[in-house]
Amino acid sequence: MAEKQSIVVLGAGFGGLRAAVLIAKKIKNLNLANKYKVVLVDRNNYQTFTPTLYEAATTSKETANYFQIKEIITFPMAEVIKNLPIKFINSQVEGIDLINGDVHCKAFEVTHEELKFDYLVLALGSETNYFDIEGLKENSFALKTFIDALKIRDKILDLAALGKDIIKIVIGGGGSTGVELAGEIQEWLCQLKKDIRQCVSQVTIVEASLTILPGFHPKIVNKIQKRLKNLGVEVSVGDSIELIRPGKAILKSKREMSYDILIWTGGVKAVPLVATLPLKTEKRGRIEVAGEMECLPQSSNLKLYGKIYGIGDAVCFYDIVTGKPIPGVARAAISQANVAARNIIEQIKSIEFKNYKPRIKSYKPMDYPYIIPVGGKWAVAKFGPIVVSGLIGWVIKGLVELNYLISILPFWKAMKIWLKGLRIFIQNDRLG
Ligand SMILES: Cc1cc2nc3c(=O)[nH]c(=O)nc-3n(C[C@H](O)[C@H](O)[C@H](O)COP(=O)(O)OP(=O)(O)OC[C@H]3O[C@@H](n4cnc5c(N)ncnc54)[C@H](O)[C@@H]3O)c2cc1C
Repeated sequence: MAEKQSIVVLGAGFGGLRAAVLIAKKIKNLNLANKYKVVLVDRNNYQTFTPTLYEAATTSKETANYFQIKEIITFPMAEVIKNLPIKFINSQVEGIDLINGDVHCKAFEVTHEELKFDYLVLALGSETNYFDIEGLKENSFALKTFIDALKIRDKILDLAALGKDIIKIVIGGGGSTGVELAGEIQEWLCQLKKDIRQCVSQVTIVEASLTILPGFHPKIVNKIQKRLKNLGVEVSVGDSIELIRPGKAILKSKREMSYDILIWTGGVKAVPLVATLPLKTEKRGRIEVAGEMECLPQSSNLKLYGKIYGIGDAVCFYDIVTGKPIPGVARAAISQANVAARNIIEQIKSIEFKNYKPRIKSYKPMDYPYIIPVGGKWAVAKFGPIVVSGLIGWVIKGLVELNYLISILPFWKAMKIWLKGLRIFIQNDRLG
């Protein structure tokens, strides 16, 4: 029997998982499982739900232990792809040969496993960008993974246990991750005593742009600025971090800021592996893609093997209307996965079914709805022109999370995880 054609998806984050699931379901429905296989590769055997990482970073050990937090923030791949014809390989991708159609992985048992592909989806996401700022990487905490979140939590708890009067926390980067984390830490470390907020922390956000949340709607920025002020979070804008020494951040204006904990949420860039590929990339190392989500080769005469798609944080897609790259958000990664999966299936159908005319789809960016939680049960949600804030924003955030869980897990499992998360995240607004 002839070798099966292989569709390999690299990265099982928001984009990669969606693409693999859609392609596998379609292959099954078209009765083509004897001719095509779907292979999904990720270094983790779980998917991380990044929108609640800030909650994991601010949950006391009394409220939830490591395993309880892991259960509500990460979803095991075995469970997510159960009953689907997907082969999952839990391994680090170490090299990709786009000319000959091979992926090189560091498998656990085998040192190098080669994965031949006929169709490839690159969905390896992004990593923290330290912009070569001296001392920053060595002295700061990041917030990209589940382990990052626990490291921040443990450091805060260690300092609180030492009985420090005030824990000084500097957060570099006033985008949504920095703002969410700042609000939640402040809420966590402050207690309301006789109408006066007494805090064991002083959280300061340092943002290089002239406002926090650059690029967001001014109405959202204003609401969040007010909220941060009420919580007691300090905000420094229009000044960037230039140098980091242990315990001290030196800004461009030469202002010095001391810290006990420095957290860097100031930017992301594509994973370095992407830079080794003969593909067009932009200044942050992201792959440039065409509307069909196909990666663009460095030169037009370069012959790449098979069909190569790129989605999510690893790619840069320029919005025709604004001329700017669309932001790296989960919603965009999922929409792009829908397009890439559909186009791969259309190509397969045109090969398998005589006279079938493929209906190739283009990705159309949209004004994605977003929700920014800032401390406890408070969030701002924007859906098109509608903006809501406060408890209602927080409730909507919970429902959006539930909706995502139901989309990847069996209904009752999704409900169980969501309710567990809800209980923990309501309790975790207080230290201890
Ligand atoms: C703290 C935080 C909060 C966020 N909150 C929101 C939010 O509220 N709403 C929103 O829309 N977006 C949010 N985002 C952004 C969102 O997480 C990303 O845009 C989204 O995850 C991008 O999806 P992706 O599939 O491109 O990459 P990812 O989801 O990052 O997936 C990439 C996958 O590739 C794997 N991988 C990487 N390199 C290798 C390798 N060499 N070998 C094997 N596997 C590898 C990783 O393990 C990962 O599973 C947040 C991000 C962070 C960090």
